[in-house]
Amino acid sequence: MVVYSVCLPLVTTAAAVRHSLVVRIYDAAGLDARERARMMDDARLALAAEHMDVVWHDCDGRAGSLHGWCADAPAPRELIVRLVRAPGPANRQVLGHAYVDPARSHGTLATVFIDRIERIAADVNADRSLVTGRVIAHEISHLVRGSVHTDAGLMKPVWTLEDLTACARAEVS
Ligand SMILES: [Zn+2]
Repeated sequence: MVVYSVCLPLVTTAAAVRHSLVVRIYDAAGLDARERARMMDDARLALAAEHMDVVWHDCDGRAGSLHGWCADAPAPRELIVRLVRAPGPANRQVLGHAYVDPARSHGTLATVFIDRIERIAADVNADRSLVTGRVIAHEISHLVRGSVHTDAGLMKPVWTLEDLTACARAEVS
């Protein structure tokens, strides 16, 4: 889980075991495809710094719009990230979460709350796409490595307003 998430210096803290991932994005929030592509690119860069290489399967997740591989069952080891609007006002500072099996320390499904990120990014004048990309990367890292947080970098669990306002796309270029 990430709270007031993740616009942060990309300090690599994970062990240098490289992972190759296939991640299916279901966008149920109705984002523009070009903005979604920017988010995925920002997430890809953040994950690369954490020794994870990603191939995306980009799916429009709105009802009735699934086709091709997006309508098929996930392949074994394929990960899923849902981009949604939060169902209610509870826990408004939680920007995303990942379902992690504590016995195996990994999971398959993560959820990112687009409307909460929009609100916070607007409040602090941060780049919504970049913040969303970092939240996506944070939750994918949980799916791969379990419920582990660090004191700095992508896996910092709680981000301050200062973290968010310090965010710049140049950090990941
Ligand atoms: Zn977390």
